[in-house]
Amino acid sequence: MQDKFHEECAVMGVYGHPEAANMVYLGLYALQHRGQESSGIVSSDGKGLISHRQMGLVADVFKEDVIKRLEGPHAIGHNRYSTTGQSHLKNAQPFVVEYSQGPIAISHNGNLVNGTLLRDELEQAGSIFQSTSDTEVIIHLIATSRETTLMGRIIEALARARGAYSLLFLTLDRMIAARDPFGFRPLVLGKFKDAKNHGAHVVASETCALDLIEADYVRDVEPGEIITFGADGMESLKPFPPAPHAKCIFEYIYFARPDSNLFGHNVYQVRKALGRQLARESGVEADLVTPVPDSGVPAAIGYAEESRIPLEFGLIRNHYVGRTFIEPSQSIRHFGVKIKLNAQKEVLNGKRVIVVDDSIVRGTTSRKIIRMLRDAGAKEVHMRISSPATISPCYYGIDTPTRSELIASSNSVEEIRRFIDADTLAYLSREGMYTYFDGQKQGFCDACFSGNYPVHFEDEGHTRQLHLFDALERS
Ligand code: AMP
Repeated sequence: MQDKFHEECAVMGVYGHPEAANMVYLGLYALQHRGQESSGIVSSDGKGLISHRQMGLVADVFKEDVIKRLEGPHAIGHNRYSTTGQSHLKNAQPFVVEYSQGPIAISHNGNLVNGTLLRDELEQAGSIFQSTSDTEVIIHLIATSRETTLMGRIIEALARARGAYSLLFLTLDRMIAARDPFGFRPLVLGKFKDAKNHGAHVVASETCALDLIEADYVRDVEPGEIITFGADGMESLKPFPPAPHAKCIFEYIYFARPDSNLFGHNVYQVRKALGRQLARESGVEADLVTPVPDSGVPAAIGYAEESRIPLEFGLIRNHYVGRTFIEPSQSIRHFGVKIKLNAQKEVLNGKRVIVVDDSIVRGTTSRKIIRMLRDAGAKEVHMRISSPATISPCYYGIDTPTRSELIASSNSVEEIRRFIDADTLAYLSREGMYTYFDGQKQGFCDACFSGNYPVHFEDEGHTRQLHLFDALERS
């Protein structure tokens, strides 16, 4: 059940390129941070769809012989992330199905808030599901639609889907990109620069994927937009009533890669500005500022610049930690965090330390990090968080635990400070989070920090779904 609303993912597609699968493979490599559980690519050679999906990291999933097999000028791919629930190959994307008009593949980033309702309805009408993923709901809606054209079927299916979706579809001769009318998750459009492949298009979750394959960023796929790539070029449609935009603010804070340009802004610059604002709001006397690497680094740079306190790397990260490791037989304190991070005595001993991280979720990481800093001799530890307190779960595709597991949902800042054992603790204010955007909150979703869920509550499906989630949390 859980992983129905725990779907952080990357999507990537290339249309009209002689090495389409290879380009998608490279793009997925650049987007590995958005999902590490499974990876897949489906290509079209005009006669059929060729698919490869496997559990594991991009580098492990695709070997030369696999890429060679994924022939054809069009391809879409997917990286999937899931921390809990069923992590099975059957949930790995892209999904491929045959329907009355031929084969179709789909890659999805996001989460539907009415996925369970739609699934129940489809199952009652005879659809048989192979996965526990919401994405399959979209495919079944397309397959069972009575519309005659593919575009008609897609529009009808998406009109029923509520919540977050950045999608790619692939048929034998077409690639279709779609983003929900709220625009929760990012999706960008690019074009290959070199003359040889001029006209070949790429669609990806983030711009860092375009940089690697030397494609130019053209523009964002707009909220509510459906773009079809076909033999006659590119065609854009906006078939749905416009909705208030709800771009995910947490993409800026933690999720996206810092070198991506997201929703029109460079993530690194935004993170630095969050750190600067944090220093303005909650400055404290100290000898050094140290980031929790990697996600806290840009904010710590901003904090150090603004406060004029030197930046030092008091914590060093091992970048080669996989998802599984062998637990030591005898107990080693704070093992889980230690394998990832090491505190440097030479930097920290006797120092008053400001430690900057992007967020506190359950509070266990911060608690362990602060213990490590103290063990390494830090005299004082001041924790600074470059986002507001995370108080509400995300139903739109970011992996946050249930409300009861979010430490800030039921504890005050002072209670959290005591739990993590910091000398002081401060979060960024909600207003401060928008300083970089000239105080403009409109256009963003900050439900995880505010509890304001932008998908309309008067929508019956959504309300029922939220009740279901609350019931699950209580159970
Ligand atoms: P916690 O121990 O649960 O408080 O974890 C906090 C750490 O998790 C912070 O260092 C964040 O950078 C990181 N984090 C925040 N959100 C996520 C997420 N959705 N997935 C994985 N890590 C996250």
